[in-house]
Amino acid sequence: MIQKINAVVQASVLNDNCLEYFECIDCNKAVKNLICPDCMAVQVKVWIEKYPNIKKKIKKELDVFLKKGKNYAGHFETCIKCKRANAYLCPDCFSKVVNSLLEEAKAKKKILEEFEEMFNYKPVYWNS
Ligand SMILES: [Zn+2]
Ligand SMILES: [Zn+2]
Repeated sequence: MIQKINAVVQASVLNDNCLEYFECIDCNKAVKNLICPDCMAVQVKVWIEKYPNIKKKIKKELDVFLKKGKNYAGHFETCIKCKRANAYLCPDCFSKVVNSLLEEAKAKKKILEEFEEMFNYKPVYWNS
């Protein structure tokens, strides 16, 4: 992962044009107008309040994940919501992270389905 991050940072320095598009550190897909993982996590935390049995675990694990992400913050695309250069992960990859946290927390199928429905992160969705 660290190698990938270095590659992204170098590419940004070498070619200013590519700054307009953000390259996800996980899947390397280029996306535009991104919401950063911190801002996406805020939405997840609001939603998970509905499920007291797993909310504690999900919130904790999410914070651990975001804390790791702080190492990359400042080198990436600006988030359209909080305006920090913190968008290092695309919505698809972020929702995969949350999904695996839910599975680890043994969330019921209904909860997983609801997450998929509600947090179907697409950059288009966030632009509108
Ligand atoms: Zn991605
Ligand atoms: Zn943000």
